[in-house]
Amino acid sequence: MKKIGVLTSGGDAPGMNAAVRAVVRKGIYHGLEVAGIYNGYQGLIEGRIEPLGLGDVGDIIQRGGTKLHSARCPEFITPEGQAKGIEQLKKEGIDGVVVIGGDGSYRGAMALSKHGIPCVGVPGTIDNDIPGTDFTIGFDTALNTVIEAIDKIRDTATSHERTFIVEVMGRDAGDLALWAGLSGGAETILIPEEAYDIPEMLDRLDKGKARGKKHSIIIVAEGVMSGNELAQLIEQETGIDTRVSVLGHIQRGGSPTARDRVLASLFGARAVEVLLEGKGGRAIGMRNNQVVDYDVTEAFGGSHEADLSLYTLSKELSI
Ligand code: ADP
Repeated sequence: MKKIGVLTSGGDAPGMNAAVRAVVRKGIYHGLEVAGIYNGYQGLIEGRIEPLGLGDVGDIIQRGGTKLHSARCPEFITPEGQAKGIEQLKKEGIDGVVVIGGDGSYRGAMALSKHGIPCVGVPGTIDNDIPGTDFTIGFDTALNTVIEAIDKIRDTATSHERTFIVEVMGRDAGDLALWAGLSGGAETILIPEEAYDIPEMLDRLDKGKARGKKHSIIIVAEGVMSGNELAQLIEQETGIDTRVSVLGHIQRGGSPTARDRVLASLFGARAVEVLLEGKGGRAIGMRNNQVVDYDVTEAFGGSHEADLSLYTLSKELSI
């Protein structure tokens, strides 16, 4: 292994830059040449590849988004697209690639590994939904963004004695809603992994009001339903007028938290080590506070399981 590439793909996540920095610096530390592949697999196909030196990744550890840019590239799902990517890597003399992204990006990494270019996946997504790792890069930052928003909304909710619905990202995974709900003291959390019970939710709202609660906050993951749909449902059933806040893309941006920077640094460095060991088709993760590498196909099969004990605890604490 003499030269490695690094790319970011799929949805961006805060901390991706810190991971790129770690890959570049760890690679150079071990005497490797490192190339940045811009715009994900699209840039790979088009040969948008540039050498990255120590200074090129200076001053990015604290920046959100990704310096390498990201893209979705349907062409790369096809064998023809993958062949074009392989050709570019061979042309550049790249012997291995670190792919920072979600499980879609991992599938691309698997395809490259099967074609003889070892690839290692680093989990970068705010959804925390990659099987095989307890945490992904970007989740903690997004969580803190959501918490900050909830705290602000709570001020208005209290002042006006209102029920607020906060819609957060998470199409299939409820981790963001779950962790934000627990740490934001929400009365109710709706996540895709748990069947919701509207009468029970309404009952909780009533009971809270009866014991003098001045406001209620409901967190809904977008995969369950939209905040506006939920507001309509509540109004139809109870006549209660709610206010809806859809947090949207602010959840994806911003300077990464210390935790995400540490995670990104650990993961990026480990990915380089795995490539140096000559292993491809691997994914990096954190399990019980230990950095691990595992077969990337493990990330495809199942789904990342939400910690439902947090769900239960949140209910117990928000009575
Ligand atoms: P994420 O990595 O965040 O899950 P996507 O699912 O959009 O995001 O995947 C990002 C990119 O990974 C896709 O645009 C595509 O280029 C590549 N990709 C996704 N699935 C496959 C696949 N089955 N084979 C090869 N490449 C894939």
